[in-house]
Amino acid sequence: MKQLAILGSTGSIGKQALDVVSKHNDEYEVQLLTANDNWQELVRQARQFAPDAVVIANEAHYAALKDALADKPVKVYAGSDAINQCAAAKPVDIVLNAIVGFAGLTPTINAIKAGKVVALANKESLVVAGELVNRLVAMHNAAIIPVDSEHSAIFQCLSGEVGNEVEKIILTASGGPFRLTPAEQLARVTKDDALRHPVWSMGAKITIDSATMMNKGFEVIEAKWLFGVPVEDIEVVVHPQSLVHSMVQFADGAVKAQLGMPDMRIPIQYALSYPDRIPTDCERLDFTRHGTLTFERPDTDKFRNLGLAYEAMRRGGNIPCALNAANEVAVHAFLHDRIGFMAMSDLLEEVLAKTRHIASPTLEDYMETDRMTRIMTQELIR
Ligand code: NAD
Ligand code: MG
Repeated sequence: MKQLAILGSTGSIGKQALDVVSKHNDEYEVQLLTANDNWQELVRQARQFAPDAVVIANEAHYAALKDALADKPVKVYAGSDAINQCAAAKPVDIVLNAIVGFAGLTPTINAIKAGKVVALANKESLVVAGELVNRLVAMHNAAIIPVDSEHSAIFQCLSGEVGNEVEKIILTASGGPFRLTPAEQLARVTKDDALRHPVWSMGAKITIDSATMMNKGFEVIEAKWLFGVPVEDIEVVVHPQSLVHSMVQFADGAVKAQLGMPDMRIPIQYALSYPDRIPTDCERLDFTRHGTLTFERPDTDKFRNLGLAYEAMRRGGNIPCALNAANEVAVHAFLHDRIGFMAMSDLLEEVLAKTRHIASPTLEDYMETDRMTRIMTQELIR
């Protein structure tokens, strides 16, 4: 039985991970579940999955959570430090990090330092501090298995190819809800428009990132650190059907692709079952019903964030960290109707132009860049 810590269990990825676990209770046992605010959902999950411990990051909910689970033998803790300590506990084999945003970085680092296998949904960990994270993985004999569907696809395409040169990674993108919206209309789209993703149902932050294509930019950076491929060799291709999850082209010109219905439970389960494949009841891809697969170049004039991610990566050091911080503030402001859709890219451009470059950041440098960038972005919004 593999012992799991699921960080961010009340979110979109967390809930789907628990769905996988519920169908394979002969394979997985839950040691730890954590959430930020939603203590009621955490209570329901704790009653169903009987973990050793639960942690609520927001300490204001500790008493309510503790009370609600008083009749159960589960340990109840609060605060970010408790998340890190419990995830590092001895019995845990795999830490699934499904926390959203910069808040996921420290849990990733601590799980790596504890030598765990990290099933990584929190792409921001690699966007912010990919170089540092990779160094720690090597040092502590840990491993990262991608959960993001594109990276799971690439990971699967690379299986059995050790030593073979990768010529190019082809990262597919759905194009989001505004693929066909004329550029001049984008300034007027609302958060409700942006939250209506054509393919995937996800948390609010990544849904907005998908609408701006920031998500794809972050995934280019994520791919660079996961697979050691320079960003110039990572090509983004818009594929609205979202059936080809990504591809790898090798030195001989051969291209391998991984396909399937768009269902996050498949890559989540693969990250947990790797290197084995175990059954699912997920819908199968019927090629006769999905007869047309189309591919097009992304419009980087319309979706400037994609270009900003490449630029941030070329500058390197702490710049992708600044991009991530500014983006989190911008998305939050957009979700609270404080700025418009296009203003998000304007803000990121301005912040990147003003950020002081640090070539080889330490963890403290990343923390400080994140903190200072948030302040700068807030001030620019005011
Ligand atoms: P979500 O908003 O639905 O869930 C986020 C989870 O993190 C919740 O359980 C929340 O309680 C917890 N959390 C939030 N802030 C926290 C904090 N400060 N401290 C501790 N816990 C905190 O998000 P999601 O859509 O499940 O995405 C999670 C991560 O997975 C993101 O990094 C996202 O980019 C990535 N991802 C998601 C999908 C998807 O289909 N949803 C696909 C690929 C990658
Ligand atoms: Mg993805």
